[in-house]
Amino acid sequence: MLNFTVGPVQTSEAVCAVGAEQIPYFRTPEFSAIMMENERLMKELSCAADASRAVFITGSGTASMEAAVMNTLTEKDKALVINGGSFGERFRQLLVIHGIPHDEMKVETGKALKAEMLLPYENQGYTAFLVNIHETSTGVLYDLDLISDFCKRNNVFLVVDAISSFLADEMNMAEKAIDVLIVGSQKALACPPGISVIVLSPEALARVEANHPKCMYFDLKDALKNGQRGQTPFTPAVGILRQMNCRMKEIADRGGAETEIKRIGGLAADFRKKMIGLPFEIISESLSNAVTPLHPTTADAYRIFERLKEEYHIWVCPNGGELRNEIFRVGHIGHLTLEDNTILVNAFKDMKARGLI
Ligand SMILES: *Cc1c(COP(=O)(O)O)cnc(C)c1O
Repeated sequence: MLNFTVGPVQTSEAVCAVGAEQIPYFRTPEFSAIMMENERLMKELSCAADASRAVFITGSGTASMEAAVMNTLTEKDKALVINGGSFGERFRQLLVIHGIPHDEMKVETGKALKAEMLLPYENQGYTAFLVNIHETSTGVLYDLDLISDFCKRNNVFLVVDAISSFLADEMNMAEKAIDVLIVGSQKALACPPGISVIVLSPEALARVEANHPKCMYFDLKDALKNGQRGQTPFTPAVGILRQMNCRMKEIADRGGAETEIKRIGGLAADFRKKMIGLPFEIISESLSNAVTPLHPTTADAYRIFERLKEEYHIWVCPNGGELRNEIFRVGHIGHLTLEDNTILVNAFKDMKARGLI
């Protein structure tokens, strides 16, 4: 199968080889060294300030979204959350569940964030801002500069879910004054699902220290303390953490985040050029390099996903919910090549010749 979904994505041979090894016992200096290196590499790839920390959570991206809400926000906050799709809605639900006072800013499917949309929220006493910088469900990349400037101006704590954008689009935590950055193992990090990472700025660390979440597994104070010696409070997904170590070193050796972002950007641009003439509309006003969200004008989106899978052995990413029959997405993250794009576009052309799209 050729995998153009948005996660899990295709993994490099080196990372697969690590996955084939026996899982070592982990309360050892050897595993601690790997974890210390993982934290250093994660901070480097996200351009975090020196005094920042990264914690590795065994749990998918949503676990880290929830841990971030529970550990850095309280009922004394007034949060603003951008909701332009299913991941924005997930953040909103987490704020409800954990009793964090908040307002949501709705963004229509496919629409970009514009400066005037933030105007009503200036000087309104907000203390926290939550955004999924790339709303993966609709393929919209929000303008991080607009958000960062708003937060700096209003002295607002900024929480960014960058799970599908990290290593696909530019991301500089220190420069954009991001306080919490959330990353997942199965998107552009191209490892198996199961680990998510929370990178915390010095201000976020102070919030964590002052907070007392009613939860053992997600209390980040414990994770931060253990992390100082390269350990975790509970048994982590040791195998995936070793694969992440291999992968982050692979990226660092090839020129770092910038080179990887360029590579993914090149794949996205190549696909968008090759697909011209096919009966698909790109539905997002503001695209990430990670994904191209497509509305087929002549066929059912979900049926296209099924046919590609069954007849061409290619996975694209279907949408759920209301957009199931309207939109499917082509991912550009993971171990893909320009030739893979040609294979996918040729499959679409063949479907067109057969009158299926
Ligand atoms: C994939 C993704 C997540 C995490 O989803 P999990 O299934 O919990 O890993 C969160 N936010 C965004 C924007 C995503 O793309």
